[in-house]
Amino acid sequence: MAIESTGKPYEFFDELEIMPAEARQTYLNQGLSQAIDHAYRNAPAAKEILDRAGVSPVEIRTIRDLEKLPITRKTDLIELQKAKPPYGGFLAIPPEDVDRVFLSPGPVYEPIQYAGIQWFAKSFWAAGFRKGDIVINTFTYHMSPAGILFHEALRDCGATAIPMGIGNTEIQIQTMYDLKVTGFVGTPSFLMTIIERAGEIGYDFRRDFTLKRAWFTGEMLSSSLRQAFEEDYEINTAQAYAVTEPGGAIAYECRQKSGMHLMDEYIVEIVDPETGKQLGPGEIGEVVVTPIHNKAWRLIRFGTGDMSSYITEPCPCGRTANRLVAIVGRTSDAIKVRGMFVVVKQAEQAVLSFEPISQFQIVIGRKGQRDEMTLKIELKDESVDRKKLAGDLNKRFQDLCRVKIDRIEFVDKGSIPEEHQKIVDERIWE
Ligand SMILES: [Zn+2]
Repeated sequence: MAIESTGKPYEFFDELEIMPAEARQTYLNQGLSQAIDHAYRNAPAAKEILDRAGVSPVEIRTIRDLEKLPITRKTDLIELQKAKPPYGGFLAIPPEDVDRVFLSPGPVYEPIQYAGIQWFAKSFWAAGFRKGDIVINTFTYHMSPAGILFHEALRDCGATAIPMGIGNTEIQIQTMYDLKVTGFVGTPSFLMTIIERAGEIGYDFRRDFTLKRAWFTGEMLSSSLRQAFEEDYEINTAQAYAVTEPGGAIAYECRQKSGMHLMDEYIVEIVDPETGKQLGPGEIGEVVVTPIHNKAWRLIRFGTGDMSSYITEPCPCGRTANRLVAIVGRTSDAIKVRGMFVVVKQAEQAVLSFEPISQFQIVIGRKGQRDEMTLKIELKDESVDRKKLAGDLNKRFQDLCRVKIDRIEFVDKGSIPEEHQKIVDERIWE
């Protein structure tokens, strides 16, 4: 794989992006069979997946052959890592060669070698980031991969990256103003928060700021919000589809802003989540990912739980990879809130560790352009200090699940039925 990092005179970050369809098929199939061979020889969990399915590595030669293997989901990864700590048998390099270990909620430990993930940059390149850009990266820089990976990818495009991390809206605004920031990396809702806050403290965003482009992931970009950024504030927007466990951004928008091109470093299948069978263009199914160039961490058919579909029509930008259309929903009991998964079991662990609580239900809604999480709880013991309980619960929940509860509602006994969904998603995407 050849990646040149900066100074390209043309629009594409690497040659893979413009491969003819047949060459891509060959490239992906070869990459897949090499990945499966390597995984089988080096990652005990991968060997077990194949052995259990009664499939030898030589039988996986094309993307279609992947149907012979089961899907591994986040919940499986959590269990596998508990059973075989720390990596669940998916580490495929000597442990001393791991550069960094990320944590995603679960917890899931993800060992990474930086050299293995440089392709990431093409998503930022396609969004127009270049040398001369000054970019605030507002993703978190600890535990989760987003902060550091996006930072390095911005550098690979030649841009100056400012490691801001999440929160601190007013410091972000001051920094954007003082350093004449031209790029934003984060969630759409956080950029809108920044713009609105800047207005409240007396700035005229269009006049006083130099923000030209924004790159989003972790949250759906609604068309109304996109329109506001582009038309009201003249910010060019691009989004990418990123999944933490298989190693980051797997699909990215070009300037057509009509679907996200699949990266050639992953095999991406859209499957029926019940059967694991592959679906064709336009059919909605679960996004299943097999990284083929990540030698450190050999996941095979990682089921993201996200539902989407793909299109094969040629794109006017010149990139030849198929495009993933918007993520339309979730399959599993893990649900994405403000870019983070809240896993039902983990939420349960956090909430039910408080003795006075008998039942709970989490309701995910949207307020303005932001996910809002409400926790409804029923008490066994009404005499408890509610304010203190809410404070402690919020802290414990955030420590464990890493997403903040927006509101805790104490509801009457019996109002949450015995057989209920622990997490209810009421979000509507315009
Ligand atoms: Zn395109």
